[in-house]
Amino acid sequence: MKTYNYSELTTSDIQKLVQRNVDPANEIRTIVEEVIANVQLHGDSALLDYALKFDKVELNKLYLDRAELEEIAKAISADQKTALETAYSNIYKFHQTQLKTEDKVETMPGVTCWRELRPIEKVGLYIPGGSAVLPSTFLMLGIPARIAGCHEIVVCSPPQKNGKVNAFIAYVALMLGIDKIYLVGGSQAIAAMAYGTASIPKVDKIFGPGNQFVTKAKTIIQSTTTTAIDMPAGPSEVLVIADESAIPAYIAADLLAQAEHGIDSQAVLVCTSADVAQKAIAEVEKQLPVLPRAEIAKMAIDNSYVVITSSLSEAMGFSNQYAPEHLILATQSWEQITGSIINAGSVFLGNLTPESAGDYASGTNHTLPTSSYARAYSGVSVDSFVKKITFQHITREGIQNIGPTVEILAELEGLHAHRNAVSIRNNS
Ligand code: NAD
Repeated sequence: MKTYNYSELTTSDIQKLVQRNVDPANEIRTIVEEVIANVQLHGDSALLDYALKFDKVELNKLYLDRAELEEIAKAISADQKTALETAYSNIYKFHQTQLKTEDKVETMPGVTCWRELRPIEKVGLYIPGGSAVLPSTFLMLGIPARIAGCHEIVVCSPPQKNGKVNAFIAYVALMLGIDKIYLVGGSQAIAAMAYGTASIPKVDKIFGPGNQFVTKAKTIIQSTTTTAIDMPAGPSEVLVIADESAIPAYIAADLLAQAEHGIDSQAVLVCTSADVAQKAIAEVEKQLPVLPRAEIAKMAIDNSYVVITSSLSEAMGFSNQYAPEHLILATQSWEQITGSIINAGSVFLGNLTPESAGDYASGTNHTLPTSSYARAYSGVSVDSFVKKITFQHITREGIQNIGPTVEILAELEGLHAHRNAVSIRNNS
């Protein structure tokens, strides 16, 4: 892994290091725009063509129904069921607390304002299934959607070589009470859920991570349709901040856990100890070759780097500029530095908290903002599946109290009808 000394980096070097422009020549955009246009024009038949072109599978229909999902789900073992159920239970427990009722506020006597939650009616979940099938993502999106009470949940996932989804995806669908999965992947799935086709309903909001094609499609449709998106959640990334108390083998394992996601994943180590960094790099070289996905992980590691800093606060400064999707604090003194975290999607504290725990089962959501979007976006939660509608009620006393303020402000803006809407009530 390339190693830099923070003290030798210029501001422009740092800017280049933290930048993740995944499509500098707009090549992905060009491909995705064509896919979106085709889906808009040809609907289901374009989806079948793309399944053949990109997923190399000839489908005779675009979905699996409940009976088919039940049949597929039979393949999973009792241990696997238990693991999925434990993950489900922890994720449910953590997310359920997010559904909070807010208090009513009397802003002045007789003027009461409040907010109420309403679920987004139709949501679309994208479950990645290209290089790895991710039933964990299905749990991370389906559970908050169910807790929020969304009425219609449309699910798309790329077909596997046998023209189906794998048994874990099928089992999670049944756990979530979802009766249909559309066998559509990539940007064509996003286009289908944004525009609707004969088979796939148009939804109000699309959720889910995916590769560069999926992410680009989400960013395009959010400005060209009335369908919203959760966030641009693209290729995964981790930044590990480590000091001399960190364990090099653990650091390496965490970097590789990220790297095996995809060739475009990034794993960054920011370390206050050159010795620990060197040992961690040696551990990466030791642990990598035996991974089944070594080829993918190697390409991602080649695209990753190490920065040596002179202090934890310098390390945190770099991390805040990078704004990582996942931030691991591999230090015993993590309690002293969490307050200085400004930008991060999800944070893992101490040497015994691997990111994998949050990826699968501890309870937090793993659908998180990447590519520095953690500067402005939060990860998926129940909040992402609801709208917060404001309400207000004004009594006779209230309209008298607030009336003069509104009249003066309306007058000041030259909006006389606004002023009259108050005056007519106070003068009658
Ligand atoms: P995917 O489901 O995102 O993409 C597979 C689809 O991409 C295929 O079905 C195909 O339709 C399309 N595709 C493939 N090649 C194409 C091409 N040349 N042109 C147009 N479309 C093409 O699965 P994946 O590829 O395995 O990617 C999953 C991604 O999700 C990884 O990058 C991973 O890092 C990311 N991820 C992110 C988060 C997060 O929270 N940010 C969480 C989990 C996974």
